[in-house]
Amino acid sequence: MTTQSTIEKNQKLLLEKKASMRELVDAYLKTIQKYDGVLNSFITVNNEISLKKADLVDKLLSKNDKVSILSKLPLLGTVVSYKDLFLTKGIRTTAASKVLESFVPQYSATVVDKLENAGCINIGKTNCDAWAHGSSGENSDYGVTKNPWGVEYVPGGSSSGSAVSVSANMCTVSLGTDTCGSIRLPANYTYTYGLKPTYGAVSRYGVIAMASSLDCIGHFSKTAADIKKVFEITKGRDLKDATLDEKSYNKKLTNMVIGVPDEFFQNGLSDEVSLNIKKAISLFEKNGVKFNKINLPHTKYGISVYYIIQPAEVSSNLSRYDGIRYGKGRDAFSEEAKRRIMLGTYVLSSGYYDAYYLKAMKVRSVIIREIDQAFKSCDAIIAPVSTTPPFKLGEKISDPLKMYLTDIYAATANLAGIPSLAIPFGFTNDGMPLGFQIMGPRYSENLLFHLAENFEAYSNYTIKNPDIYNL
Ligand code: GLN
Repeated sequence: MTTQSTIEKNQKLLLEKKASMRELVDAYLKTIQKYDGVLNSFITVNNEISLKKADLVDKLLSKNDKVSILSKLPLLGTVVSYKDLFLTKGIRTTAASKVLESFVPQYSATVVDKLENAGCINIGKTNCDAWAHGSSGENSDYGVTKNPWGVEYVPGGSSSGSAVSVSANMCTVSLGTDTCGSIRLPANYTYTYGLKPTYGAVSRYGVIAMASSLDCIGHFSKTAADIKKVFEITKGRDLKDATLDEKSYNKKLTNMVIGVPDEFFQNGLSDEVSLNIKKAISLFEKNGVKFNKINLPHTKYGISVYYIIQPAEVSSNLSRYDGIRYGKGRDAFSEEAKRRIMLGTYVLSSGYYDAYYLKAMKVRSVIIREIDQAFKSCDAIIAPVSTTPPFKLGEKISDPLKMYLTDIYAATANLAGIPSLAIPFGFTNDGMPLGFQIMGPRYSENLLFHLAENFEAYSNYTIKNPDIYNL
């Protein structure tokens, strides 16, 4: 059986009794076995646990009719992988760092429980940049993850394994985290959808924190419909995460205006990425969606602000892994984590706090105001995800500043707490994936899904699979 990655297709197979859940899970496990030796998208594969869960689902299927099984298990047939930052009860969780090499959590993250209760089966824990620090998937203590569209290219990071596992049909959907692009970038580099929800829309309880005022839990899938289905289950109030809020927002596409920020289309952006977004804009326009130029002059400070606030929060969050309470102690941290702990401690230290941290917080407020103002003249904003298409393994890893600049277009959504959806669209001349992101006001996820579903129709979107069979 070949693994096809949509929730609907799997449900159809199960309900029409063309496959059992065991057969489905087995097919995904075989795909992992065959191709992950090269791609390295998993740190832990749940061979036995996932098959046992599949048998339970098969039992339920035999005892319930279609309507009652779907009301009990709305995500029936969904095989999910989790970035190795999500606590999973009884299953090792490493944050891709040697510091937590043998950490087995006593409980699961709220979202893991929610998805399990909705019928999802956890197939494994995915590789990522250690502690979610990185943009390429090369900064893991468990080896580099490769892009299935071209194994000499990076898949993007930090949720590298999550994106690759979906792209290469090793699961149906995956969960990752986005602190400054870590879902949108790898989604964009692997031809998958990647959602960074509104800050506070999805519970982070039980997910290893990177920078708490920016961290968001999000999802990867192969269709707009699937990402919407998973968000429907994961979103919502959780008494264990005080930052959560829930509002509904729904707007029709008619008379819709999308803002095109001048500042996101200036020098530094590759022609291939920019021309491709222009193609997307004209497809939208042909179907009646209007575009307006807008200005976001302070977003150019976004990446600088991010690289002050984020290390400050990283230094605080990582201080618990001191080898006394948790972890193996300081020496087990790799270069990148040490760099951020030092930067963060510096910008928070007496005498420098006002000059760096406080100033960055003030500029962040200006950016938030600017974004809120922009949404008075448009319903959503279109932008590139990254400055360039996927780059080659090794190209940026020895130059941290160059690597940091990869995320220049991602920072705005995290700093302002707004949702953003990365949409796959087009390929480079070398056959590597391209796409764009659409940001909306807080809690406008439904609007983003609506736009994405319509864009699928405008662009005759079909699921495309990388040619991993040549590996
Ligand atoms: N690439 C960014 C960084 O290294 C973002 C990481 C993330 O979103 N988790 O900080």
